[in-house]
Amino acid sequence: MENALKLGDLKLYWLDGGRLGFDGGAMFGVVPKKVWQKRLPADDENFIDFIASPILVRTPETVVIIETGFGNKLTEKQKKIFRVTKEWNILKSLSETGLSREDVEHVILTHLDFDHAGGIAVLEDGEIALTFPNAKHHVQAKEWEDANNPNRRAAHSYWPINFEMLRDSEVLVLADGDKEIVPGISVIHSGGHHRGHQIVTLESNGEKAIHMGDVLPTHIHFNPLWVMGYDDHPIDVISLREKWEHKGIEEGAWFTFYHDPLLNSCKFDPDGNVIQKWPE
Ligand SMILES: [Zn+2]
Repeated sequence: MENALKLGDLKLYWLDGGRLGFDGGAMFGVVPKKVWQKRLPADDENFIDFIASPILVRTPETVVIIETGFGNKLTEKQKKIFRVTKEWNILKSLSETGLSREDVEHVILTHLDFDHAGGIAVLEDGEIALTFPNAKHHVQAKEWEDANNPNRRAAHSYWPINFEMLRDSEVLVLADGDKEIVPGISVIHSGGHHRGHQIVTLESNGEKAIHMGDVLPTHIHFNPLWVMGYDDHPIDVISLREKWEHKGIEEGAWFTFYHDPLLNSCKFDPDGNVIQKWPE
């Protein structure tokens, strides 16, 4: 894994978080299947194959991971429900960059749904341990509160087994709004997908990237109206996309994606056409 997207002094690598399937209708909300299936075809049962690939960011000083993948704690039944067709394998792909799990100093979680937070805790030799024991784990306080007191709908995706090891620990760092995590990397409280969702901005030597998490899960969701059925606050997702897409396009920023099966990152023109992509 020599290949990194270079952003000034930062290097971005997409780790192998495996693959899972989501219902096409849930991923594209009110958009008719006839329209979305031209961009991303579904299988016989209407599932689309997605990735869940954490982003490793090497800065000159430190190592940051954005999102952690769905992890290795799913039961066989859960693997069937969520159509896991490829296992979570981020520790191997991390080692291919020459790093170990102890080297990671910051984990940024846009939110705590299982497909983002499952890799916080790893099952090894029958025991559950923190995957990145030396890392500070950055979550919005609102998200932490909601994940620990979920409503009926959210209880399906907030699984305590993924984040309970963080509770009362020194490695949990709750953000109350916007915050710089390390020089050049900040979290912005966005809401939208969940009210405690945060997005991540990266900047080095004038080059920028925006990680919108599940507010912009793939490049195919560029149209602000293509909102997911999973979003708690769809109207907020629409205005967030309008705001950040406009800003990112003006600034020539890369948009990074966690779930996109076709590309990891791209730049858009104002009509939403991909004008540069990663991998090239
Ligand atoms: Zn997700």
